[in-house]
Amino acid sequence: MNLNSRLSRLCQSLAEKGLDGVFISQPENWYYLSGFDGSAGYLLITPQHRILATDFRYLEQAGSQAPDYEIFPISNDLAEWLPRLTADLDLKKLGFEAGHISFAFYRELTDVLKPSPLKLVPLSGLVETMRAVKEPEEIKLITEAAGIADSACAHAEEIIRPGISEQELAWEIEKFMREQGSQALPFDIIVASGPNSALPHTKPSPRPINPGEPVVIDIGARVSGYSSDLSRTLCLGKPDDNFNKVYTAVLGAQLAILAIMKEGMSGEEADAIARTVIEQAGYGPAFGHGLGHGVGLAPHELPRLGKGATEPLLPGMVFTLEPGIYLSGWGGVRIEDMVVMTKDKVNVISKARKVMT
Ligand code: ZN
Repeated sequence: MNLNSRLSRLCQSLAEKGLDGVFISQPENWYYLSGFDGSAGYLLITPQHRILATDFRYLEQAGSQAPDYEIFPISNDLAEWLPRLTADLDLKKLGFEAGHISFAFYRELTDVLKPSPLKLVPLSGLVETMRAVKEPEEIKLITEAAGIADSACAHAEEIIRPGISEQELAWEIEKFMREQGSQALPFDIIVASGPNSALPHTKPSPRPINPGEPVVIDIGARVSGYSSDLSRTLCLGKPDDNFNKVYTAVLGAQLAILAIMKEGMSGEEADAIARTVIEQAGYGPAFGHGLGHGVGLAPHELPRLGKGATEPLLPGMVFTLEPGIYLSGWGGVRIEDMVVMTKDKVNVISKARKVMT
């Protein structure tokens, strides 16, 4: 990871906002900026200082994972350590991650810092925006995680049979991905069959899978902290009447956007292109979620692809394209691939096959 370049870009945006420093409390963000992957800590970054504050359980780990940082031991008592940490830094305006701390913690922060001249400034998406554009090394790890999900999908196709329950299939997939080298999975696997597949984010149930109905499988692996995200819709035996129609519309929407997508297009424009295909097939209202989302250290991160996402999509961004149609009482079809934006087109990262009957 290229920490120096990340930190200098961060300090540049702090300067643009007129801030002396930033207090980082979001775990993926502190990992991104320091390499420290412990479960408790904060970063305080100024143009002159890189400080990693953590408790005694992680001191040694912090020292070896974040050698560029000064390690500052902390306790549970914010009032005891935060004034000491900020005292010598001569800070007047300190940014904090407004979307990642609780109201209670914010109150504690302001109480503790009240006697000092330091002013807290809420920030949103500062590091997340940087994280949206991936470095080649990050794309390599995401591609590895995608490869594990691809193999797991092929494995699911091999072992799926009439009568196997959603839960059983989900567990087999999870076991397979862990055995293939995935870290703890980035999100709970979705295996949704028949009417259950009309619920985009349902949990696997004891329901046995029957021939002819859609089975939505949504899975991701994690490698060195980086996630993948993949959805396929299978059907055992001969699909029912709806299946081919719905599947063709979803696949058509995805292929349309894959063919047209290029640098500078916004998430909103991309969403509209895919949505038009689904609307023309007569299923407009049944595509109730956005077209996609960024994937990286978090399985859902920036950029967002959907209504209101007006920012341009940039080279190096990795995101999903996942149109879906959900028909209450019947079921749903979702096809989700991860892509990376390059100069003039997107490259598809996931390789799992798409026609699965
Ligand atoms: Zn997704």
